[in-house]
Amino acid sequence: MTMQFKKLGNTSIDVSLICLGTMTWGEQNTKEEAFEQMNYAVENGVNFIDTAELYAVPPKEETYGLTESYIGEWFEQKKNRNKIILASKVAGRSGMKWMRGEESRLDKKNITKALENSLKRLKTDYLDLYQLHWPDRKTNFFGQLGYEHDENDDPIPLEETLEVLNDIVKKGLIRYIGISNETPWGAMQLIKIAEKKKLAKIVSIQNPYNLLNRSYEIGLAEISIREKCGLLAYSPLGFGALSGKYLNNQWPEKARLTLFKEFTRYLNPIAIKCTEEYVKIAKENNLNPAQMSLAYINAKSFVTSNIIGATTMDQLKENIESINVKLDEKVIKKIEEVHKQNPNPSP
Ligand code: NAP
Repeated sequence: MTMQFKKLGNTSIDVSLICLGTMTWGEQNTKEEAFEQMNYAVENGVNFIDTAELYAVPPKEETYGLTESYIGEWFEQKKNRNKIILASKVAGRSGMKWMRGEESRLDKKNITKALENSLKRLKTDYLDLYQLHWPDRKTNFFGQLGYEHDENDDPIPLEETLEVLNDIVKKGLIRYIGISNETPWGAMQLIKIAEKKKLAKIVSIQNPYNLLNRSYEIGLAEISIREKCGLLAYSPLGFGALSGKYLNNQWPEKARLTLFKEFTRYLNPIAIKCTEEYVKIAKENNLNPAQMSLAYINAKSFVTSNIIGATTMDQLKENIESINVKLDEKVIKKIEEVHKQNPNPSP
């Protein structure tokens, strides 16, 4: 298997086209399983790991920070911190006051504390990429539709947040900054403020992108290319749904959507109908449905890295191997036909 690499934004860092997602570690996966996943991924060319202070998922006080701790212990054991491009995130406004004893805002006090805690858990003195997990202001993310403007919202100004991030870049605690769950407006504002005030510029945008949600293509894909801040695609399998394993009303034991019924984004009736059609295309072309879905993402020019998630070693192998799958024009045409019929059933 030959891993491919892409530049992270306008930096000189080469990141693997497959990034290892981590959010199941500490909930669905044990520390030993996390170690096994990291070992295998690194042996197979992955040099990019994505985590967050918030993880494990679903977020809970008891598991808060566990994922980062596992990664930190792995670095300690392997002594390989400098071989990995490590990305983490600071949580935005959430109502989860157990994180820092107060509302988690994207201000100086919160970001400083969050980063200090992440570095401690990760047993490192720097992050390669530090991402704002979601915006502080009220806007559309995590599947929210229909924009309702709230005049009474009191967001931390983007400029203030960017200045805090710029200071910690200067201190050498983080190398580069990125955003997540952002809108085109937020991304462009941050880029413009950085240019005007000579502050750190975002190098990546981590948003959902999969066959059931290609809304990224509408506004953000162009920004990714023109502004050199590529997509780090998350939930590339729509929480596993695109493997087809929930079709025909099946609820596989220990699978995320069986365990956590509150995650409904990828199992609405139209998403299920589209998944049926994507799985059919895969089968007719002797492709594994999960690999077909991942290969579609891997080939996009605006994607810097595809953040895969796995709870078993078989899944991990299958997902990393997607880099060897090239979809031919006939398959892509069929995929586009399904997309046109029902664009973005799981926005
Ligand atoms: P995903 O690819 O949509 O879902 C991964 C899950 O699907 C796995 O945990 C596994 O769950 C199942 N799965 C994976 N490969 C499979 C296969 N080959 N066949 C069948 N089932 C398979 O990705 P995700 O976990 O949602 O996201 C990946 C990473 O992106 C996360 O770990 C995290 O680093 C990042 N992320 C970021 C955000 C954000 O807000 N920035 C949000 C979500 C994720 P089961 O075994 O339980 O079915």
